[in-house]
Amino acid sequence: MDDQHRLCKAYAESQGFEIKAYHGGTHESAKTPGVLVKAMISEAKRDKSITHIIVSQADRFSRSAGQAINIVSELQRLGITIVEAMTGMSTETPEGLMMIQVKLCMAQWDNTNRTTKFVSGRKNCLKNGVWCGRRPLGYNKEGKSINAKYTINATGKLIRKMFKWKMEGVANHIIADRIRPYGLDLSKQAVHKILTNPFYCGLITHKMLEGEVVEGKHPPLISKAEFLRVQEILSGRTGVYTHKKETPKFPLKRYVRCLEDNSLMTAYTVKKKNIDYYKCNHIGCRTNVSAKKLHAKYEELLRCFDFPKLLYPLLRDCIDRIVQKGESETKPMLATLRKQRSECENKMKTCKTRYGVGDIDEEVYSLTVQSLQEKIDKIDLELSKFKTDLSNLSDDTDMVFATCCNLAHLWRNSSLETSQKIQNLLFPDGIFWDKQNDNYRTFNANEALVIIAKLSDGYKNKKEVRDENLTSNFKMCG
Ligand SMILES: [Zn+2]
Repeated sequence: MDDQHRLCKAYAESQGFEIKAYHGGTHESAKTPGVLVKAMISEAKRDKSITHIIVSQADRFSRSAGQAINIVSELQRLGITIVEAMTGMSTETPEGLMMIQVKLCMAQWDNTNRTTKFVSGRKNCLKNGVWCGRRPLGYNKEGKSINAKYTINATGKLIRKMFKWKMEGVANHIIADRIRPYGLDLSKQAVHKILTNPFYCGLITHKMLEGEVVEGKHPPLISKAEFLRVQEILSGRTGVYTHKKETPKFPLKRYVRCLEDNSLMTAYTVKKKNIDYYKCNHIGCRTNVSAKKLHAKYEELLRCFDFPKLLYPLLRDCIDRIVQKGESETKPMLATLRKQRSECENKMKTCKTRYGVGDIDEEVYSLTVQSLQEKIDKIDLELSKFKTDLSNLSDDTDMVFATCCNLAHLWRNSSLETSQKIQNLLFPDGIFWDKQNDNYRTFNANEALVIIAKLSDGYKNKKEVRDENLTSNFKMCG
């Protein structure tokens, strides 16, 4: 029997009440009236012999004043008097009723106040660099709120590995696969969540801090430079994979001219059949072509500019050399960065020794170390960029190669902007649609590309001659 129960029982005995039932015991802190209070009210409704409800303190009804007042008036309607055992105040008299209502309001004020205190306590923790949310994966936690101490555990070391892999450009789902054998089972979404959590580079962000980023007291898993690098890589990746641009519907709109009257062609869709057309807007001209045809013929035209297959090894070699030249230029830069980094480290060592023997005071020491560390972080950021650049070199070559070899494909599968760039590059003076010949007419194509086209043409012709021979052979056979 707790104090509250004892208090109520003593009061009832002193007034000569017969106790029918005892409700409560667990603390009612929720905003809605608790199950216990509801049970008590329904019992009072059923049993007409109940005349009084004794509470130790009025605020025991509900923490929300509005609700508690409702409960009080409901009980009053049933003719039941509420008595506060602690003070003897009852709802029997108007003064008593008012006092109890005031008390209920005070209780709510106290409760609201407690919430603010709780919030400001958490905010205080965060502002002081102590994380007070759920324990982040990879850390152990000792102590509570502001005294919480975080230490890196075995999982933390695995997370560090995940960050390193990301810096090497490994995809999230592969990181998830690779870390699984070490006993860490994560979805690729969970991997993403970890890789974007600044807690791991020693920073604290929280909506309570309203955008402020606080230097955390916990040991970081990775440097800030490394974290930034990972964010760069992640944003680059999403740029490539998630925002796949829609292919434009009318890339040739206001670009191709009608040969009859030199007017730019516009485009429209016949909605009933869902077929796209280009048409000349000149009055009286009836040039009207389906988009399918105009696009197909354009791709055909672009194929003239494709690099001849026989010259592929030559092209590949050229691109390789251009890309490698880039690489040879980066090598001395890498050496410089590494040299600077070791210089900083040496300075750091000297500084530590001098502080150790009392040559310099703590302030000078910590300032110097801090500025050196910042320099090292910046160098690391640059170094990590080179690392990925080098591993991407062969990808670059492949990409350039593919672009040179298939302009038609590139034109049809690019954004409107890129498609138009290709168009303007190839035919800087525009292109005409010749209705009579049912094909394009071009003037002044890009000269460099014309050379390719001629080369390509030469090879194609040779091949066609051979093909023709084959057909004639067949004919002879048939
Ligand atoms: Zn026309």
